[in-house]
Amino acid sequence: MIERNADLSRANTLALPARAECLARPDSVPRLAEVLAGRARHEPLFVLGEGSNVVLAGDLPGLTVIPALRHIERLREDEQHVWVRAGAGAVWDQLVAETVARGWLGLENLSLIPGTVGAAPFQNIGAYGAELADVLEEVEAVAVEDGRTVRFNAEQCDFGYRDSLFKSRRRGEFLITHVTVRLNRQGHCRTDYGGLAQQFDDLPARQITPAAVRRAVIALRQSKLPDPRALANAGSFFKNPVVDHAHHQRLLAQYPDLVAFPHQQGVKLAAGWLIERAGWKGRNLGPVGMHREQALVLVNHGGASVSQVLTLAGAVKDDVQRLFQVELEQEPVVLP
Ligand SMILES: Cc1cc2nc3c(=O)[nH]c(=O)nc-3n(C[C@H](O)[C@H](O)[C@H](O)COP(=O)(O)OP(=O)(O)OC[C@H]3O[C@@H](n4cnc5c(N)ncnc54)[C@H](O)[C@@H]3O)c2cc1C
Repeated sequence: MIERNADLSRANTLALPARAECLARPDSVPRLAEVLAGRARHEPLFVLGEGSNVVLAGDLPGLTVIPALRHIERLREDEQHVWVRAGAGAVWDQLVAETVARGWLGLENLSLIPGTVGAAPFQNIGAYGAELADVLEEVEAVAVEDGRTVRFNAEQCDFGYRDSLFKSRRRGEFLITHVTVRLNRQGHCRTDYGGLAQQFDDLPARQITPAAVRRAVIALRQSKLPDPRALANAGSFFKNPVVDHAHHQRLLAQYPDLVAFPHQQGVKLAAGWLIERAGWKGRNLGPVGMHREQALVLVNHGGASVSQVLTLAGAVKDDVQRLFQVELEQEPVVLP
């Protein structure tokens, strides 16, 4: 069924006002194929999950699809691994909860990331030293152009830091229908990152279970990040910028407390630290602001328009550029 002029203000966690000209929520691949076949050839097409990483800049023309394929299944297993396949519309954290409850390793660090399974490959979701790319076996998608099924292994997804082929090189070409992850039955959880390390320092590795890591990650996230149901936001509004070693050294000489992490292409700076140092932590411009606990999160205190969001984002970017000669890149995608 297609809904016309559908309200999307509750379908995006920044709570921006917008409508979809036509909205479909297909719950199977054949239904999705029907919906795509019924669309006029050059009609615009948008895909949404829970809308937790988008900035809706206005009404979406044409067709918007919110996949409702929600099953989660154990596909196959051997002595060491279990392969789990989930539909694009499944809630990401449900997949994490179900696999962690069985004691399988691989997704525990990615606990409580909002959104759907289908959106996870789009920006290669990551947290606490792990990212989807580490466990991804296969992405199944439908090519928007002609409706054929396409499969991608991890290498073909071209994953990068909060990036993939779906987000960059071939944006808009594929609608992801399923994701398969390869999990471990045994092994060691990753606890060497940020606040996790302190909590598990004294424990021998074999006592650190996926369930314990999940509990710790959830507690850390809840203490730091605003819940979009209570305060509208889209998570980190900017990526952590990567600079070369010389640039890092220059900044470090001026700001000895600069927070940074090693990166293959240089040094990754903590965008939250830069924004805080630029004076934006807890500062508002009208109904929008940078969160008082987590400067990287742009929040809508209520009734904001997209231009207010983008004006604030622009002001933050300008100040960071001026002070640190670093260009911040926005993480959430602007639609349409
Ligand atoms: C409080 C908070 C904390 C967050 N923390 C993290 C974090 O720790 N790490 C992290 O990586 N992200 C984080 N995010 C961002 C967000 O949770 C992820 O990007 C998530 O994957 C978005 O899922 P979604 O279903 O809401 O996608 P949406 O926001 O609906 O869509 C995001 C993009 O993916 C595309 N897309 C969605 N579904 C599909 C599909 N089936 N096929 C093709 N394209 C699709 C959309 O077109 C859009 O461009 C956070 C967000 C919030 C609000």
